[in-house]
Amino acid sequence: MLTASCHCGAVSIELSRLPKSLTRCRCSICRRYGALWAYGTRETMRVHAAPEAVTAYLWNDKVIEFYHCNTCGCLTHYESTEKLGDSRVAVNARMLMPVEIAGISVRTFDGANT
Ligand SMILES: [Zn+2]
Repeated sequence: MLTASCHCGAVSIELSRLPKSLTRCRCSICRRYGALWAYGTRETMRVHAAPEAVTAYLWNDKVIEFYHCNTCGCLTHYESTEKLGDSRVAVNARMLMPVEIAGISVRTFDGANT
């Protein structure tokens, strides 16, 4: 079990496991965030945050909620709006300690053109 958290600690996310690789996406939003995504589901990535502690940003077809901490501003995770048990949750692996993700391969995904 690993715990990712924002800088101030208002948002924490328990990861039951890390994926085999992390994803650096080059789509219009991810490249601005500088996020490094660890993909899982609502069952493998448990988000702990008070509703008022976070803000979701939705754009385009509004099916993905990008969450940031209202206090420290860290971009912590995204999830689909449908929120089923097997819905994707992507944790920003930058919220983990560098040593925890050292050695995990990073794949670059050209989300802007696919
Ligand atoms: Zn915070």
